[in-house]
Amino acid sequence: MTKIMETGWNLENSYASLPTSLFTRTNPTPVSSPELIVLNEQLAASLGLNAEFLESEAGVAVLAGNEIPEGATPLSQAYAGHQFGNFTMLGDGRAVLLGEQIIPEGKRVDIQLKGPGRTPYSRGGDGRAALGPMLREYIISEAMHGLGIPTSRSLAVVKTGDPVYRENVLPGAVLTRVAASHIRVGTFQYVAKWRTIEELQALVDYTIRRHYPDIEDDENRSLSLLKQVISRQAELISKWQLVGFIHGVMNTDNMTISGESIDYGPCAFMDSYDLETVFSSIDVHGRYAYGNQPYIAAWNLARLAESLLPLLDDDPEKAVELAQAEISEFHKIYNSHWINGMRGKLGLFNAEAEDEALIEELLELMKKHHADYTNTFRALTFETKEDSVLFGTSEFEQWHRRWLARLDRQQESNDSSKKLMQDSNPAVIPRNHRVEEALKAAVEKGDYSVMERLLEVLSHPYAHTDEQAEYATVPKECGPYQTFCGT
Ligand code: AMP
Ligand code: MG
Repeated sequence: MTKIMETGWNLENSYASLPTSLFTRTNPTPVSSPELIVLNEQLAASLGLNAEFLESEAGVAVLAGNEIPEGATPLSQAYAGHQFGNFTMLGDGRAVLLGEQIIPEGKRVDIQLKGPGRTPYSRGGDGRAALGPMLREYIISEAMHGLGIPTSRSLAVVKTGDPVYRENVLPGAVLTRVAASHIRVGTFQYVAKWRTIEELQALVDYTIRRHYPDIEDDENRSLSLLKQVISRQAELISKWQLVGFIHGVMNTDNMTISGESIDYGPCAFMDSYDLETVFSSIDVHGRYAYGNQPYIAAWNLARLAESLLPLLDDDPEKAVELAQAEISEFHKIYNSHWINGMRGKLGLFNAEAEDEALIEELLELMKKHHADYTNTFRALTFETKEDSVLFGTSEFEQWHRRWLARLDRQQESNDSSKKLMQDSNPAVIPRNHRVEEALKAAVEKGDYSVMERLLEVLSHPYAHTDEQAEYATVPKECGPYQTFCGT
């Protein structure tokens, strides 16, 4: 007797109970010959999914969009957004939400296919995705998770067997993405601009129930929601800055209400420290440069606040006042997370008034001497001098003496400081040349071993093992790096 394999699906779709203007029921379009390229077995297990099933023909059919799993209510979500500052209608043009998996620990998470074919929101696009960019999202999102940064996760990438037509003909792929939800700042903008106040209220109620149940009984729930999102995003962006992550397209539709990082396109990690670092080929004016990210986040949140205005107070002037007061909190919250994070990177447990100056001075020296951001902190952690011009300068010597004196003034032992620094400074980040190398081997040669090794190294960035050392080096001839949306 053949035993039917347990799949582990435990899907609901509460989003489908929202007003119908918020989504369109959409099925993925089947592909020719699905082939599983990478599966995140640990993530599958934490979702309650059977990895053995996902690897089977029936499982791969689901990951490719050729079969709909039991309990799924596939839909695409409607949203708008400011893209590089210009407001426009968007929606899931190449994504289908299969449903929400209720995971063993009780949480509800979205299971979404990215690249499953056209949807009613596709406009001009083909609804498809190419293998390279989907593997890139897989690598970066898993690296972010390893770094301890809230993020959407990647469950699998399946090659479709069909070509996608961009500037070149590329192999097509579908990514299965897992996220707390896909509700975006742009979701609120869409409803506020084109739908009714009742629908806006329904979206607020749903979002609170799903992400912020603690504020359900608050008197001004919309204001509390705004406050919560500001606080989560301020913390998130501080974590990006602390590891040198540059998102590249911080449009309002790419900013979640849950506080997770999402939509990895032309993102990349900074090598030498410079607030003006931009990698994305489409960001010609540097709107989304590394140093701008906190300001852009606050700008995006102001768009969320605007969308919520009619619910904040019956008196429009009072509503604006309330919104502005919350938005002005962003930089305070952000700064306090950032400074605390920086203290950790320098092994400091307590706060002193001059810490900010100490931190800023180091960053200025790093900028002046083109020092690698990640490796400078790593060298300070392990008291190695590495091959860096910075460490040979007298300015650095002076700074170093001040820092040692500062360490001496705290009660904690040197060992505890060192431990704190190891836990705060990653040994490895997804270096651009390493990511490219892995993608090239995968896409051009069908060799996935380079990517698998990279993923393994990136999964525990604070371990500081010997095998990580070769992933920490920056190539000498490292010229200006550019990333492409590759949609
Ligand atoms: P993104 O740059 O991935 O954040 O996407 C911005 C918008 O463009 C979203 O509405 C996407 O659904 C849409 N989009 C991007 N690529 C495609 C594509 N190949 N086909 C259809 N829509 C797309
Ligand atoms: Mg997007």
